[in-house]
Amino acid sequence: MSAPELEVRSLTTRYGAIRALRDASLTVGVGEVVFLIGPNGAGKTTLLNTVIGLLRPTSGQVLVRGEDVTGSSPDSMITRGVALVPEHRRIFADLTVKENLMVAGITVDAATRERRLAEMVELFPLFEKKWTTSAGYLSGGEAQQLAIARALMSDPEILLMDEPSLGLAPTLVDLVFELLGSLREQGRTMLIVEQNAQRALEIADRAYVLRSGEIIDQGTGAELRERTDLVSAYFGSQDT
Ligand code: ATP
Repeated sequence: MSAPELEVRSLTTRYGAIRALRDASLTVGVGEVVFLIGPNGAGKTTLLNTVIGLLRPTSGQVLVRGEDVTGSSPDSMITRGVALVPEHRRIFADLTVKENLMVAGITVDAATRERRLAEMVELFPLFEKKWTTSAGYLSGGEAQQLAIARALMSDPEILLMDEPSLGLAPTLVDLVFELLGSLREQGRTMLIVEQNAQRALEIADRAYVLRSGEIIDQGTGAELRERTDLVSAYFGSQDT
């Protein structure tokens, strides 16, 4: 069997005395859409930030297509085809939509960058009207689309997303989930952190449940959806 596209092996990450992630292991296969769900403070962001190289694990490994990339910098992860849409979007408020995308496309040649910019307008039609708008003036939903587009500028094989629907109005949550559906059709491998467990499990191939830094459950989206105990215990009231 070929190696998973992404593998996290027994990862432990600390913030000083706080062990935010304990021995967490997961795999994401080629073209798979895998969700990481769990309550506030479970360690979801810590896991993504460790995978992308923003945090160094105290033990464990991160493998991309079987290659050990533990401790690689975020820049070198991009060259390995892994990109992160971070929590709270972190777009440049003073730059226009186009400029935000241009900055994200800095690692590719000019012709490729132009082609990708055109692809982004196709995927996110609202950019056409907002092309020269400063990102600081975008609504929450628009800013989230820009954050996702920015990560796509490097055409990553593996897309990591941290709470893409957080803080969005219900119609915009729908839009984000539609977009995740389109990205899955493109065959993009995705590992997505999401508190909206009900919605996540509707489109997940598989999901892992993280609590207090540990993976406590896993299964296909359908399997975990049946587990009403799980959904109501950990996430029932958090759907927005
Ligand atoms: P949320 O949904 O609230 O973002 P999460 O599941 O993403 O939660 P993390 O943000 O990874 O969880 O946090 C895991 C644990 O690590 C929490 O107890 C949190 O308080 C702690 N933590 C996170 N960042 C830091 C930090 N920079 N310094 C110290 N402790 C931190």
